[in-house]
Amino acid sequence: MSELLTAAYRCWAEIDFPALQRNLAAVRTCIGEGTAIMAVVKANAYGHGMVEVVRALSDRVEMFGVANLSEARALHAVAGGSASRIYILGPALPGERPEIVKHGFVPAVSNAEEAAAYSALAMAETERQKPAAKFSIHLTIDTGMGRIGVWQDEAVAAARDILKLPGVKITGFASHLPVSDEDDAFTHAELVRFRALVIELRALGLESAIAHIENSAGIIGFSSQAGDLVRAGLMLYGSSPRPDFQSKLMPVLTWKSRVTLVRDVPAGRGISYGRTFITPKPMRIATLGVGYADGYPRHLSGKNAEVLIRGSRCAVLGRVTMDQILVDVSAWPDVAPGEEVVLLGQQGRQEILAAELAEKAGSIPWEIFTGIGTRVVRIPASCQTLR
Ligand SMILES: *Cc1c(COP(=O)(O)O)cnc(C)c1O
Repeated sequence: MSELLTAAYRCWAEIDFPALQRNLAAVRTCIGEGTAIMAVVKANAYGHGMVEVVRALSDRVEMFGVANLSEARALHAVAGGSASRIYILGPALPGERPEIVKHGFVPAVSNAEEAAAYSALAMAETERQKPAAKFSIHLTIDTGMGRIGVWQDEAVAAARDILKLPGVKITGFASHLPVSDEDDAFTHAELVRFRALVIELRALGLESAIAHIENSAGIIGFSSQAGDLVRAGLMLYGSSPRPDFQSKLMPVLTWKSRVTLVRDVPAGRGISYGRTFITPKPMRIATLGVGYADGYPRHLSGKNAEVLIRGSRCAVLGRVTMDQILVDVSAWPDVAPGEEVVLLGQQGRQEILAAELAEKAGSIPWEIFTGIGTRVVRIPASCQTLR
């Protein structure tokens, strides 16, 4: 007899690590053997749990990408291994730089001034501990994203200035694609432009610096232009930014909740805040132990959102509240408190993808995943039952 470990959970997420590894294999199939992979594990691995995700991927990827120093620190503490495998995707605060240099994390640097600050810190470190090794940075170039990086026309001049600094060396050139799932013509031209710029930059004496620009949509849509390294995020978690590729990926996270109460409601009653849904007929309505405080988007209110109960789709009624939502279980007279419900993922033959929730909520899969709250317990899919 097996007892459900999750029986006492009202809202949890089951993480399928073999699926994560299969999605990584799908990345590999796109880009071939010659290109390295950075697993992007920022924001708690898109809500999937950074520590466990990193453990599952550590032997299979070359680098990990994080958003900032505190994530780099957390990853280093658990993953161990070399700090030179940890890339910080966004600009660091001036006050964070000393620790970045001390550990040897690899920062994205947008200009020569930032590089000079790292150089000075690295020189100070070197005086304390010999032998001296130059601190590794990646020069980030703005080829159209308009967020961070040196503007493309000024990249060569910036690289020349950085080459004069005694404490740092450029070991990578990075850029980022703003419309890789929206505008193929722009993206293709941007990739060509970046490639040409990298050749010019390497000719300055930086032949061994690696080039990386592609995110998931880039990897899927433009695999032949992948460069030396790709930065895979969303697709690793089984959600494709390009719908035609979804069938090649397996969702990693199944988000579940339970029925906490079932009531028979007569016709004409208002359901939830705002009374936006009035029962048109007598209905059997279940209350679930999930709400917007768990990350179930309030914007799903009145948007025909559904959950899965017994392998069937059941409508979410009225507004999403902080800790509870209401669903129509009129078709299932014997549903009772404790019954398991799938909010995101598969149950029987039905599946709700992050893309579906995102579309209905006017959002994107990235935000659905990263919005899943800290109240939601993450467990490996394989250990949901106790013997
Ligand atoms: C988050 C991020 C990625 C990963 O993007 P996905 O679309 O999730 O694959 C890649 N590069 C940078 C710079 C990022 O910030």
